[in-house]
Amino acid sequence: MKYSVPKGTKDILPEEIYRWQKAEQVFAEVCGQYGFREIRIPTFEHTELFMRGVGDTTDVVQKEMYTFEDKGGRSISLRPEGTAGVVRSFIEHGMTSLPSPVRVYYNITAFRYENVQKGRFREFHQFGLEAFGAKGPAVDAEVISILTLFFARMGLTQTHLCINSIGCPVCRTEYNRILREYYQPGLAGMCHDCKGRYEKNPLRMLDCKEPHCHTLAADAPKLLDHLCPDCREHFEGLTANLDDLGIPYTIDPGIVRGLDYYTRTVFEFVSDHVGTQGTICGGGRYDGLVEMMGGQSVPGIGFAMGVERFLMEVEAQGVAIERTPDVHLYIAAMSTEAAVFARKLAFSLRKAGVGCETDLMGRSFNAQLKYAGKTGVPYLMVLGDDEIASQKSRIKNMKDGVQTEIDLSNQSGIIATILNSKLHD
Ligand SMILES: [Zn+2]
Ligand SMILES: [Zn+2]
Repeated sequence: MKYSVPKGTKDILPEEIYRWQKAEQVFAEVCGQYGFREIRIPTFEHTELFMRGVGDTTDVVQKEMYTFEDKGGRSISLRPEGTAGVVRSFIEHGMTSLPSPVRVYYNITAFRYENVQKGRFREFHQFGLEAFGAKGPAVDAEVISILTLFFARMGLTQTHLCINSIGCPVCRTEYNRILREYYQPGLAGMCHDCKGRYEKNPLRMLDCKEPHCHTLAADAPKLLDHLCPDCREHFEGLTANLDDLGIPYTIDPGIVRGLDYYTRTVFEFVSDHVGTQGTICGGGRYDGLVEMMGGQSVPGIGFAMGVERFLMEVEAQGVAIERTPDVHLYIAAMSTEAAVFARKLAFSLRKAGVGCETDLMGRSFNAQLKYAGKTGVPYLMVLGDDEIASQKSRIKNMKDGVQTEIDLSNQSGIIATILNSKLHD
C-alpha cells in the first residue's frame, strides 16, 4: 500500500520551509510594531458560527465547508476563514472591556472544498488581522499600511492598492432604490437569478456573470457616487490618511463585498506582475458583524491573505528570500578519540548558541568532508590526534577557502572566529 496526500493538500518540505518561516516572521514582526498581538483560535467550530459569521447564502458555507457530526452529535465545521472565529473569541472573552482598539493578528490553516488549481488548496494558510473598536478612517489607513510595510519588507514591489466604499445600510437603502430604477426597463431580459435579486438584494446584480447582466452592470450607477454624508466623509478621511502616509492607491468602484455586515472601506492589493495578475489580499470594514454575532455594537476592520498565493507571487516576482544557516560549523574527526572530542566540543558550542554538526553515521574522514560539502555548512573544523594533542586546529570558511588557526581550549575564540569571519562574507 502506497499513500499519498489527499487532493488539495500538500507537504511543505524542509527544503522550502525557510520561505514560509521568513514570511511568518516578517508578518508577526510588522503586526507587532503596530500593536497587534497574535491570537490562536480552534481549527474547528460549531457549524452555526460560520453560517452566521460567513453567511449561509455564500458559496463558502453552502458548498465548500468541511462539515461533520462529531461523536456527541454536534455539527462541527473546519474553519473556512479566520474572522468568524476571531469575532466569536472577541465576544466570548468580553474583549469589549479591554482598551480600544483591540488588535489581533493570526496565522492559520483554513479548509475549503474547492476546485484545485494553481495556488489554491483545500487546506490552505492565511495571514490575517482584525482591529475592533475604532470607527474613524485612521485605523483603516493604518491596517492598509501594515500590508504596504509587509510587502516592502518582503521585497515585493509589483503590487498596487485599490480602495472603494460600499457605504452603510443607510446609503445602501437609497442606492438599492436607484439600482432598481436603473435595472427596471431591462429586467425582462435578465437572468432568472437577477430577477430574484432585483427584489431581495439588487447590489448582487452587479456581480452577475451572465453576459447580458454583466454588460448592464458596467453602466449601472456607482454606490460610490451615492454615499450618505457620513460615509462620504469617512471615505474622504481614508484617502486623506493614505495621502498623508504616502501610500498610493486607485479608487475602484468595482470592489464589492456581498455581505450585509460589510460597511464603508473595502480594499484589495492586486499584483501588477504579468502572469500572476489578480488579487493577493483583500479586506474591509465590518461595523455590523460583532453585533450580528451576538456582541455589542463594535466597529471592526480586517484583512486576510492566502499565504500560498502570496508566496507564489514572491516567487513569480523573483524576490530572493535569504536562507540563514542553522548549523554554522561541521567538525570532522579523523580518529575514534577525535570523534569523542568532536561530540563534546559540538555540545559545548551548541550550549553557547552556535549550531554544529558532527558525524553520526560512522563515516570515514573523507566521507565526512564530502557530507559537509553537500550540506552547505559555512565552516569546517578538522580534528585528528595531532590537533587534540597540540590543542590547535583550523576553521575553514567553505565559501572562500580561507583558514583561521584556533586554540581548541579557547571556546570563545572559536565562536569569535565563526562570528567575525561571518561579517566578511
Ligand atoms: Zn452611509
Ligand atoms: Zn444575472
